[in-house]
Amino acid sequence: MTESIKKAIDKRFLRGIAASPGIVTGKACVFRDILLLVETRHLEQCSAEKEIIRLHQAVHQVVDELIEDNFKTSKKAQTNAAGIFLTHIAILRDPYFISGITQDIRENGVNAESALMRQVDQFSRAFRKMDDTYLRERGTDLRDIARRVIKKLMPQERSGISADDKVIIVSSELTPSDTVRLDRDKVLGFVTESGGKESHAAILARSFGIPAVLGLEGLLSKVSGGNTLIVDGNTGIVIINPSAEVIEHYQDLQSRYESCQLDLQRLADLPSETLDGRKIHLWANIGGPGDLEYALRFGAHGIGLFRTEMPFLIWRRFLSEEEQFFLYTKVVNEASGKEVTIRTLDFGGDKYFEDGKSQKEKNPFLGYRSIRIFLRKKNIFKQQLRAILRASAFGPVKLLFPMVTTIEEVKQIKVIFEATKRELRKEGVSFSENIPLGVMIEVPSAAILADQIAGEVDFFSIGTNDLIQYTLAVDRDNDLVNHLYEPLNPAVLRLIQHVIRVGKDTGKTVTLCGEMAGTPTYIPFLVGMGVTDLSMNPPALLEARKTIRDMDFAAWEVTAETVCSLASLEIIKEYVERERSMTGLRAS
Ligand code: PEP
Ligand code: MG
Repeated sequence: MTESIKKAIDKRFLRGIAASPGIVTGKACVFRDILLLVETRHLEQCSAEKEIIRLHQAVHQVVDELIEDNFKTSKKAQTNAAGIFLTHIAILRDPYFISGITQDIRENGVNAESALMRQVDQFSRAFRKMDDTYLRERGTDLRDIARRVIKKLMPQERSGISADDKVIIVSSELTPSDTVRLDRDKVLGFVTESGGKESHAAILARSFGIPAVLGLEGLLSKVSGGNTLIVDGNTGIVIINPSAEVIEHYQDLQSRYESCQLDLQRLADLPSETLDGRKIHLWANIGGPGDLEYALRFGAHGIGLFRTEMPFLIWRRFLSEEEQFFLYTKVVNEASGKEVTIRTLDFGGDKYFEDGKSQKEKNPFLGYRSIRIFLRKKNIFKQQLRAILRASAFGPVKLLFPMVTTIEEVKQIKVIFEATKRELRKEGVSFSENIPLGVMIEVPSAAILADQIAGEVDFFSIGTNDLIQYTLAVDRDNDLVNHLYEPLNPAVLRLIQHVIRVGKDTGKTVTLCGEMAGTPTYIPFLVGMGVTDLSMNPPALLEARKTIRDMDFAAWEVTAETVCSLASLEIIKEYVERERSMTGLRAS
């Protein structure tokens, strides 16, 4: 880098957490939920009728759009979610719903946006009190509808990505629900003020192959919509309104990065085997059918983790058994005979629908999360199990349960699973009788009890993202403590080592599916510890394969044994880095 480029960058750069690799240059689009921008305005007396006409026009435009969306979705048949659009149309055509808004405008002289929001809040409150789960969740539909209508009413505030150009999303934070709902084809990159490297939003960015930098202090006060940004997801640097010289420099870096990726792509069909012949299975983590293409193109052995909560976050509601069956079957069919490990719903923590926010817990990651929810909400759990079991008739499926902390939970899960199978048998519905059952080892208690849990299950999947956060008491989503989130911490390593040993002694496969699995810095070390199965976001598969093909298992086995006996994090890090440079593996 020349001195003049350095000087030009110095003036306008921000440094954050490099959360997803790659380099992009593009225009900033500031992302905020348009519902938060609605203000109440009091109208002049004679303008109520004009306001009502404005509302009707906006509603008509939205209904037309919904009819079009419904048509496109049914044609693409990507999900049978087209029905949602019909529900939305029915709500907008409901005279009772609309007359409440017009009455508010007339009687209280408020603007249409505000009257609409008041009506949505009132309906949502009424829905929340209902016994029926389906009706309780209609509040989410109402807010989706309101978003569409308000975008028509406040076109100058259009939020999200509505422009045709591809943009870089700038936001204070992105929840997993925001992230999965963004149109991937229109997003060049993400930059946010908060968020950790292992937050679900960061994981999603990596699996979409979209560069991201998080934890950028003061971002929103420095960037406005339309500014040009360079996002360097490899180093965590963001440059605001760069000069032509700087843009050229980064375009050069970007094309070099892309040509490296192309070289790696050539390895996709080669065996993932160490220099001394140890075979390692590389699996993909996916969030839905859309990720499958990448997974297969990058040479995944199969799907090691299907995070089934993602489609629910996209639609911001629970999906029916039929909708789930459709999704799971689509993945199983398109995996063409490769094993698909389907994990049951892992809500809670940072993954919730909008409705969940209103009952936010003090410590959501330690609270009502994952299997804890579904061992209480047994009917919803059974619905998912039925859909997965039915999909298993179409190809090899493994079933994985998240966030297990005790052996009693595993036993309860199995009772429900067996009861669900009995139900299906009785109904004459076909499914595979031999689905392997596994649990995520992501809570320290489960790791410590792995030898006992092994007697109850067929396989383990170590979720290091949560295992690290729970072992070290570091919120994976909080940039204030991100520096303490340390995968090589000796306590974490000992837990992983223990689980691998239990797997070996009991003959149960141990897959590692946290982000550590796809990080080239850790891969040789994990393989040296005895991990044979690594599951990662699809774009990480290429470099993982190269790392494995370049390493010597026997040498790293000795290193791993030594490192796991060390107590100091600093010494462990030095040791691992020294071994990497001595064995010629380049640092990621
Ligand atoms: C993990 O915790 O490592 C994991 C894979 O699950 P998630 O990231 O979905 O919590
Ligand atoms: Mg987890």
